Amino acid sequence: MGWVLGDSLGETVPSVFISGAGPAGLVLGNLLRAEGIDCVIAERRSREHVEQRARAGFLAANSVRILTRHGLAAGLEAAGRQHDTCAFRGEHGQFELKYSQLGRGEIHTVYPQQFLVRDLIGEFLDRDGEIRFGTSIAAIDAQQGEVTLDNGETLGARFVAGCDGRHGVSRQAVPGRTYRRDHGISWLALLAEAPPSMASVMYAIHPNGFAGHMARTATVTRYYLQVPKNTDPATWPDDRVWDELNLRMRADRYGALNQGPIIERRIVDMTSFVREPIQHGRLFLAGDAASLISPSAAKGANLALMAAEVLAKALSQAIKTGDSTLLDGYGAECLPRIWRAQEFSHWMINLLHAPSGDSEEAVFARSLQRARLASLQCSRAHQDFFAENYIGV
Ligand code: FAD
Repeated sequence: MGWVLGDSLGETVPSVFISGAGPAGLVLGNLLRAEGIDCVIAERRSREHVEQRARAGFLAANSVRILTRHGLAAGLEAAGRQHDTCAFRGEHGQFELKYSQLGRGEIHTVYPQQFLVRDLIGEFLDRDGEIRFGTSIAAIDAQQGEVTLDNGETLGARFVAGCDGRHGVSRQAVPGRTYRRDHGISWLALLAEAPPSMASVMYAIHPNGFAGHMARTATVTRYYLQVPKNTDPATWPDDRVWDELNLRMRADRYGALNQGPIIERRIVDMTSFVREPIQHGRLFLAGDAASLISPSAAKGANLALMAAEVLAKALSQAIKTGDSTLLDGYGAECLPRIWRAQEFSHWMINLLHAPSGDSEEAVFARSLQRARLASLQCSRAHQDFFAENYIGV
């Protein structure tokens, strides 16, 4: 099917309308502008809000390659930090995996998502892109390429990119199904104004539940604590957080954590979903709008960047030549990668969590978890498999 060049509404419309100024929408917008394609981004939040919203921090090597390839990596080259080791700590001790020496030998770059978003907004505006902050999309007509804003205004576009994240509206405009899994696990996600306590990412397995440590900057560290579902973050004041983190990280054996004020605390439920299909008519989903992945394996932002690059190439081809071959194959290109990442994230969830208690099922699950960790500690083949999936998508 070839797209008709021109608009359906008989008026001047942008070539591409993008819903959402997260990593997916902003990378897509920048790549389209680099090709000279006009596009408009609508973002329901303010610029200040999205430039300060702390989320991801670990960029895989392929994400860095994408950003570098398209001239979007100046910020992360200046301030990003290379990271190549993760460690597991449990009742039987701890071991480290230096993944720069395993699998394909790749590393992460630690660069907080809000810094990346700030860089991408600046670059998009420099490339004469238009962003309407504080503009919420209420509905999308995928066949017509019509976007209705929450003030009732209707805008047309030749193509619409649904990059509005897990809570956006674009997914609903694609007929199909959302395949969802609630893993029944919640994390209290914390940002501490304290330097990282160790050089590696730390995954701590404890009878009280999982605890995680991930560097963000020289002065800010992300921590996670597994907590019961529906926990109110307010029931975790700073003292309680540090006591529990030190306990689960076994500070008595390995040394106390660097403490400081907790500057953000929120609950993150381990839920995952994949929408299928991820395209309909003139609408194409990318990033968390297409697939939400639990943060256990730090894949969401990386998947968003990869989808944005694939979609940018396909839209450029369709807009510039009228050839829709790449656009037609967009879902088939992205979905296998999404499912592979989901599979690894699911594997990580089972590695990091096991039920407490003395029931046969709980003891069985904990024994499997111990066996998995022992295999990861001892088997070079297992370590290579882990590294390839941990760093790659
Ligand atoms: P988003 O970043 O959610 O952007 C969507 C945008 O759309 C938002 O700005 C939103 O305001 C806007 N929007 C929503 N609805 C509308 C509407 N109706 N109209 C207009 N605009 C709308 N991933 C990693 O790869 N590595 C990590 O280390 C990592 N750590 C994480 C830690 C935490 C605590 C969390 C919560 C997530 C983490 N992730 C990580 C996941 C990552 O943050 C997301 O996958 C990523 O933000 C997805 O980008 P996106 O552009 O698809 O969606």
